[in-house]
Amino acid sequence: MLTGLNIAVIGGDARQLEVIRKLAELDAKLWLVGFEQLDHGFTGTNKTKLEEVDLSIIHAIILPVSGTSLNGQVDTIFSNEEIKLTAEILARTSDDCVIYSGISNAYLNKVTKEANRKLIQLFDRDDVAIYNSIPTAEGTIMMVIQHTDFTIHGSNVTVLGLGRVGMSVARTFAGLGAKVKTGARKSAHLARISEMGLTAFHLENLKEEAADTDVMINTIPYQILTADVISNMLPHSLIIDLASKPGGTDFAYAEKRGIKALLAPGLPGIVAPKTAGQIIANVLSQLLHSQLEKGGSLNENEK
Ligand code: NAP
Repeated sequence: MLTGLNIAVIGGDARQLEVIRKLAELDAKLWLVGFEQLDHGFTGTNKTKLEEVDLSIIHAIILPVSGTSLNGQVDTIFSNEEIKLTAEILARTSDDCVIYSGISNAYLNKVTKEANRKLIQLFDRDDVAIYNSIPTAEGTIMMVIQHTDFTIHGSNVTVLGLGRVGMSVARTFAGLGAKVKTGARKSAHLARISEMGLTAFHLENLKEEAADTDVMINTIPYQILTADVISNMLPHSLIIDLASKPGGTDFAYAEKRGIKALLAPGLPGIVAPKTAGQIIANVLSQLLHSQLEKGGSLNENEK
């Protein structure tokens, strides 16, 4: 149980509802900021505005997967109000308050550092990234089906990168009967790709390997699908770029060549917000339990 823990959930989308549900079930006390248009009520929670929260008793702040914008805005789909997080606001929380976010950026790193508060990026964790790769792979299937007139079965699918997303995507498309080849730069990755029964190639040879590809799926957050590579691709081929913004594709060149190239961020939140929310909720509840057990987060009179 999380009894005694005071948590501010600031902003978010449908995924955050799973987090709220789980933490409320565990008896945490929750202040929900940016949720006034949410019809559903959760026991033990208060819908409120940021300026109305007594931040001095807050032990944890939970931000959306995206964290903040580069100006500090926190996105919410349940409110029209603008929410801005600043170092001054964070500094008013309890000294041991922990800030939990999906990902971070220069702004969020800076304000948490200035306020001397710990920031935990959930998507840095292997467990979250691996669980999250499942709805990502399913969302990729959806996009490929939507944007092609041929079956995945029997088509030539090239996956770039054998990280947490690349491995799930490659395996899933192979399971659907695609002829999957996967590009990587590390010899251990190339060995793993072969072990998985897929065709491995070194990224140095990407231009040649791209020539017979029907569907190219990129997971490498680095400009890898350059004009030179795209110029060697088939006119009907489809590029799905899963890497975080701005992706790894020369989109302008792809458009010039008439090759459809789509940046596809946030697929788990689109195709499976409930599961994606549960993944975050499960790991958050473990982290909050250990925060509570360490006792570091509670004031002496609250322990
Ligand atoms: P990851 O485990 O770190 O894998 C990244 C892969 O990219 C690794 O295979 C890495 O290989 C390779 N790589 C990185 N820089 C490279 C470079 N300069 N040249 C060649 N290869 C390079 O990351 P992940 O969890 O799989 O996530 C991959 C991307 O997808 C991230 O940008 C993530 O934010 C994004 N993502 C998107 C969605 C979505 O819905 N679209 C969902 C989840 C994640 P090495 O080991 O050789 O560096």
